[in-house]
Amino acid sequence: MPIKYKRVLLKLSGEALAGEKKFGIDYNVISSICESIKKCVDLGAQIGIVVGGGNFFRGRSSSQMEDRTRADHMGMLATVMNALALADALETHGVEVRVQTAITMQQIAEPYIRNKAIRHMEKGRVVVFGCGTGNPFFSTDTASSLRAAEIDADIMLKATMVDGVYDCDPNKNANAVKYERVTFQEVLEKGLAVMDSTAAAMCRENGIPVLVFSLADPDNILAAIQGENIGTIVKED
Ligand code: UDP
Repeated sequence: MPIKYKRVLLKLSGEALAGEKKFGIDYNVISSICESIKKCVDLGAQIGIVVGGGNFFRGRSSSQMEDRTRADHMGMLATVMNALALADALETHGVEVRVQTAITMQQIAEPYIRNKAIRHMEKGRVVVFGCGTGNPFFSTDTASSLRAAEIDADIMLKATMVDGVYDCDPNKNANAVKYERVTFQEVLEKGLAVMDSTAAAMCRENGIPVLVFSLADPDNILAAIQGENIGTIVKED
């Protein structure tokens, strides 16, 4: 099956990389994610990945830290560990990869340069974006919407632990109903737990559709890029 989306921004939450352990990195999980990504690259997809850091540290939920900005700096550093682990696993699977960070750490990764990122993707390299936006008080969801706009992605793929967007939390309510499609307006008005409102507003303003789907089956990344009917699509009518 051919691909439907040529250039995509894939958001992988830190939680998704931790697997059952809920903390740190599960290398088996990363490996199966990379297998799916490899298939997409082989079909000609250009992929940029924003990684979260919640499997190590989240600034906003750290009650021990006094200074939110400093806590967010730690959160952004956490995303770099995930980015490096992902890069390592991608290379192991024969995928060419570059890590670019929004906060420069040139001994470890390239600095984020938009045109260079696009050039890498055109050459078939996956680009992993670390450090989110590089600014505190933002999330990696917002970083995903920003990078998606910058690289002119056809779609943002938000791989999560849930298989789509529901009208209420499906883990708490057995009657929760899954949307097949929903607008950003509804997401914002109803406060649906898809992504934070800054990210939703950013995608809406820039006309970037978001597909929310489960990573329980890592081959869903391939299915998503091929345009299969999985998860929930968020876009304006
Ligand atoms: N973060 C930040 N600015 C950004 C992106 C992330 O300060 O642009 C920090 C913030 O502390 C956040 C942490 O990095 O809690 C990890 O990111 P996130 O919570 O989005 O990760 P995820 O929940 O997707 O694993």
